[in-house]
Amino acid sequence: MADPVNLLGLDLDGLAAFSAGLGEKPFRATQLARWIHQRGEADFARMSDLARPLRERLPQAAAVAAPPLLAERVADDGCIKWLFDVGGGNAVETVFIPEDDRGTLCVSSQAGCAVGCRFCATGHQGFSRNLATAEIVGQLWFAEHRLRPLFGLAEGERAISNVVLMGMGEPLQNYAALLPALRLMLDDRAYGLSRRRVTVSTSGVVPMIDRLRADCPVALAVSLHAPNDALRDELVPLNRKYPLRELLGACRRYLDAAPRDFITLEYCMLQDVNDSPAHAAELLRLVRGGAGEPALRCKLNLIPFNPFAGSGLQRSTPARVQAFAEVLRDAGLVTTVRKTRGDDIAAACGQLAGEVRDRTRVHERLPRVVPIRALPAGAPR
Ligand code: SAH
Ligand code: SF4
Repeated sequence: MADPVNLLGLDLDGLAAFSAGLGEKPFRATQLARWIHQRGEADFARMSDLARPLRERLPQAAAVAAPPLLAERVADDGCIKWLFDVGGGNAVETVFIPEDDRGTLCVSSQAGCAVGCRFCATGHQGFSRNLATAEIVGQLWFAEHRLRPLFGLAEGERAISNVVLMGMGEPLQNYAALLPALRLMLDDRAYGLSRRRVTVSTSGVVPMIDRLRADCPVALAVSLHAPNDALRDELVPLNRKYPLRELLGACRRYLDAAPRDFITLEYCMLQDVNDSPAHAAELLRLVRGGAGEPALRCKLNLIPFNPFAGSGLQRSTPARVQAFAEVLRDAGLVTTVRKTRGDDIAAACGQLAGEVRDRTRVHERLPRVVPIRALPAGAPR
């Protein structure tokens, strides 16, 4: 018999096709999605509004399974990191970031990453493999239903209000698996997140930015990191394939259809590499357009570099970051400096190097594997 299908990997169309394959009506897809994604139920026997013969057949045909959990760590600031086993000696990480008005989940899309950015721990690790849709959605499914009881939330209330594809991997190099995952995040019968609360972050895979615009135009963050091609070629090797002019063109096209939207430009602040006031001025010229190009509707998010062993790079000093931000703000560009979160559990941007050779080593490297207890009071809404 064929292996059971992991239903976490099927969007509503996929669930309808799966139901049809069992000779069931299409509305079973909605019932299954509600049980699985809204209630967090993995046991078909408990899905009480499914007809009994179907409930009895489902365990042979299907399963609801997030990747196995290897470790869970809680940071002093309430961030939680989960490490999931995705087989073959690989692990990926998912981070929950609580804030006053929201709960954001940072999700991984690949084990490792092929882009190889200079300043990124995941990039240094190399590429292992794409995650399947079930492994991407499994991170959200697990986190939402792990957090809900801990926050004392009633049915219908959500622990996670925002999802960012900013964990390990380049989501637009795993587009086939990403798209159904995004659709489930947006679907009212599953997670029902608005498209502005789901953010895909990319290092600039130009053709796939166009595909995303056509298929599922969620919020877009572009990892810029440099104001000219020479420097960006060094920091983000993908720039040699898709240089800044093409990347900004794709960003403008992305916004064409959505007049109220903007693109977040992420800029990792590296001491004496890309952080001078002259770089800021060059960045301004880049996004301002000129020579027939309109200005790009964007916000700048400056990310102080999170160091890791062997990078050979340093975080810009707070004074450098402030001076850089001021040049942009003085010119009227909305500019934020990202707070570093989850520092004490290595959950900050670029530190998600979750490669594992064997489980014994994982436990050596994660000595503080703790059960959740010190969660912040109240649930982020
Ligand atoms: N591959 C995608 C999404 C994952 S990386 C991308 O590159 O956009 C998420 C964000 O973390 C990106 O903006 C990335 O540039 C940033 N980042 C990576 N390594 C970092 C580090 N060491 N310090 C700070 N930010 C980092
Ligand atoms: Fe990959 Fe993003 Fe890291 Fe670059 S910054 S190596 S694209 S995960």
